Amino acid sequence: MTLGVPKETFLLERRVAVTPKTVSKFRQLGFAVKIQSEAGQGATFSDESYINAGAEIVSQADAWACDIVLKVRQLDQENDEQNNINPNTQCLVSYAYPATNKIFLQTIAETNPRLTYLAMDCVPRISKAQKLDSLSSMANIGGYRAVMEAFQYFQKCPKPMVTAAGKLPPAQVLVIGAGVAGLSAIGYCKSLGCLVKAMDTRSAAKSDAESMGAKFVQVEMKEEGSTAAGYAREMSAEYQKAQYELTKNTAKIVDIIITTALIPGRKAPILLSEEIVQGMQPGSVIVDMAAEMGGNCALTKPGEVYTTNNGVIIIGFIDLVSRMAPQSSELYANNLYHLLDNLGGASKFAVNLEDEIISSMCVVNNGQVTWSPSKPLPP
Ligand code: NAD
Repeated sequence: MTLGVPKETFLLERRVAVTPKTVSKFRQLGFAVKIQSEAGQGATFSDESYINAGAEIVSQADAWACDIVLKVRQLDQENDEQNNINPNTQCLVSYAYPATNKIFLQTIAETNPRLTYLAMDCVPRISKAQKLDSLSSMANIGGYRAVMEAFQYFQKCPKPMVTAAGKLPPAQVLVIGAGVAGLSAIGYCKSLGCLVKAMDTRSAAKSDAESMGAKFVQVEMKEEGSTAAGYAREMSAEYQKAQYELTKNTAKIVDIIITTALIPGRKAPILLSEEIVQGMQPGSVIVDMAAEMGGNCALTKPGEVYTTNNGVIIIGFIDLVSRMAPQSSELYANNLYHLLDNLGGASKFAVNLEDEIISSMCVVNNGQVTWSPSKPLPP
């Protein structure tokens, strides 16, 4: 069986679905690995390094003609990437965001009746799926990178300093959303010597944030922000009002805000209004990790760095994870390896919809869209 890895075409995407290091693992599962020429270039992996690892370098059409096609990003509609799907391909694996792409998926299903499409963003967040959970592996890297970007623009030292010329306080950071990305950002900020505050609507996030050394800033209202499955849900208008006031007061005293707040299947909630940003100190920095999902800050310009009239720098990069492409590709490729192992490798390859992980990931099968909002834990 052949595994094809096309070069990503999505704007600013530098990751690649299979790295030279993981080629041997896929080969051990019995697959022949075909990589599109220059697919690894953005992540510093040369064609030669893939050949040395036992892969074959092929054209774009040949990479797409494999039995299984492995990608990172969702199909790039801007570049009509869906037209590359070969009628003989059995399985396509990538991000898919089915909640926002239902009509597109319908077209894919109708034009590719043999295709099974597995969405990496629909891996259920359960213990036994952790090895293939790329939402977590990528969020970990994204949270780290968000801190690096913040200090690239923030003009002060992260840690406190005591010098003969006087004392300098540590940078104060507020992390909104203490999920995987937020916890990674908290950990890195703490290691740099910052004072860190964290905020989240899920009560379980409090102990997570505190265990990483952050002070949890809590809305004084009894309302659980978690669904039964442990995911964030939209909060009541009353809660949102109380959270707004708390955020406004906290934003005035912190130097950096990193926002990561997401609600599965929805646009990101706006948590930093223009009024809140206007209340922040000049030189403060906001890194909006939710920029691609619409942003947690009303003033974020996705993909850009923008300075407001009161001197607040808002970073809306949508490629934070891609800015660490060698390592994020490595982790993503490992997630894919565990998926293909779960699917039986080359000799016993089968998409078993009785398996709760595979059934959750399957968005298109045999000419039908198989994702529905009622599926457990959709993204
Ligand atoms: P996410 O990326 O979906 O969201 C980021 C964070 O934003 C979450 O902590 C969420 O509660 C928070 N948030 C949403 N709305 C908010 C608001 N208005 N204000 C403040 N914060 C808000 O989160 P994630 O990191 O992907 O984690 C989602 C869930 O999945 C969590 O319960 C997490 O524990 C769980 N999880 C499970 C596994 C596993 O068992 N395999 C792995 C990773 C995560």
